[in-house]
Amino acid sequence: MAANAARRVGVIGAGMVGVCAASWLQRDGHSVFLIEPGNPGEGASFGNAGCFNGSSVTPTAMPGVIRNVPRWLRDPLGPLSLRWSYLPAILPYLVRFARSATPEKVEGQAKALRPLLGPTVPLVRELAREAGADDLIHQRGHLYVYRSAEALAKDGFAWALRRANGVVVDEFDADELRQLEPALSRDYVRGLLVRENGHTSDPLALVTRLVEHFRGRGGEIVRARAFGFRLDGRRLAAIRTDAGEFPADAAIVCAGAHSKPLAAALGDRVPLETERGYHLMIRDPEVMPRIPTADADGKFVATPMALGLRFAGTVELAGLVAAPDWRRSRILLMQGRKMLPGLAADYPEADYANGRISMWMGHRPSLPDSLPVLGPSRASPDVIYAFGHGHVGMTAAPMTGRIIADLVAGRPPPIAIAAFDPARFA
Ligand SMILES: Cc1cc2nc3c(=O)[nH]c(=O)nc-3n(C[C@H](O)[C@H](O)[C@H](O)COP(=O)(O)OP(=O)(O)OC[C@H]3O[C@@H](n4cnc5c(N)ncnc54)[C@H](O)[C@@H]3O)c2cc1C
Repeated sequence: MAANAARRVGVIGAGMVGVCAASWLQRDGHSVFLIEPGNPGEGASFGNAGCFNGSSVTPTAMPGVIRNVPRWLRDPLGPLSLRWSYLPAILPYLVRFARSATPEKVEGQAKALRPLLGPTVPLVRELAREAGADDLIHQRGHLYVYRSAEALAKDGFAWALRRANGVVVDEFDADELRQLEPALSRDYVRGLLVRENGHTSDPLALVTRLVEHFRGRGGEIVRARAFGFRLDGRRLAAIRTDAGEFPADAAIVCAGAHSKPLAAALGDRVPLETERGYHLMIRDPEVMPRIPTADADGKFVATPMALGLRFAGTVELAGLVAAPDWRRSRILLMQGRKMLPGLAADYPEADYANGRISMWMGHRPSLPDSLPVLGPSRASPDVIYAFGHGHVGMTAAPMTGRIIADLVAGRPPPIAIAAFDPARFA
């Protein structure tokens, strides 16, 4: 296939990653269809913290992280929980995770991530402007807050890693922090502000408007669940779904945490896991931070959103099928109240019933080295993987979409993608 020739491209999964890929592909003149069994944007892209954090180059498996695990698991308010019945299933992932937490590997991962994440705000702005969604994108930075100088010192390696990758950080003491965000608890004595970061005030509305724009320019949405591919030799003939086969010249696998069986259908074994995360939202909160703010110890973020204040975060290892444990969301409220003491001391159960308080659980598509899988399958150059963005999928999606469009067009991508090679786990 000649470079730049228009092709019929099926994008599997209409989350932020799939929709960004579809948008860039459409700009190249391809005839693009999105395959999605549910409503676009209602997977992980629905309930995240909405942050476009180009600075988030630190992988989850940082040196020393394993030492914290027993403490986190013992603490019912802690950032990590594990359903013990799921331990045998996730053990191989955890072994890879622990092995990837060496300083040398982590430095390499950060270096690979920075070009994928760094340009996020200008790129998402470009897509949003075209789609009439500019009002949903904000750039007020991202604030990380600490309760002691010692706690900040413990994160020294992470901050050194960010700075080494070109992230500019402003540091604030307790008084300055109070002026910057008066709603924050006086318990916080250090704050680090990354001004380059942005956020969306409504992740679902952003995906929805990008999809509407895509449809307005002739893109199709196919309501179906993909389960495999029909190949003609090494060329793709069609995408197989529960609604029949859809002929395509290229397929992009962006099914988030559900992508593993699609890769397996082509013989690629990828150790994709779900790191389940939760949110709790308060409509008309008593106080609201102006800047998205992360409690560095509690590992959750408070984001000011159009529909209220969202606390999002924590990791639960329990697989794709277990029912949500809503105590995890309620813990976010307990933590959030400590961050923002101006919130009500208590919310009646009626607030949960009438929708003033809402809760959500979603699946981060995660790989043990915190890098996505981005590149062609082994069986066919026409089937390209774009999944596994873990904690930073909103941020990485705009550049991922550009890379996908380049790969389909046969152009060299704008950044190095060797570290994201789907075959790296073989
Ligand atoms: C609590 C929490 C907070 C987060 N905060 C942030 C943040 O602040 N910033 C950030 O950058 N990232 C954040 N993330 C991560 C981010 O949300 C994800 O990485 C990102 O949304 C993944 O996007 P996606 O398009 O790959 O997957 P999804 O949004 O899950 O989309 C995948 C889509 O594929 C569809 N699908 C599934 N199976 C099939 C199939 N067989 N055929 C067709 N379609 C299929 C699904 O229905 C879904 O719509 C957070 C995640 C969580 C859980």
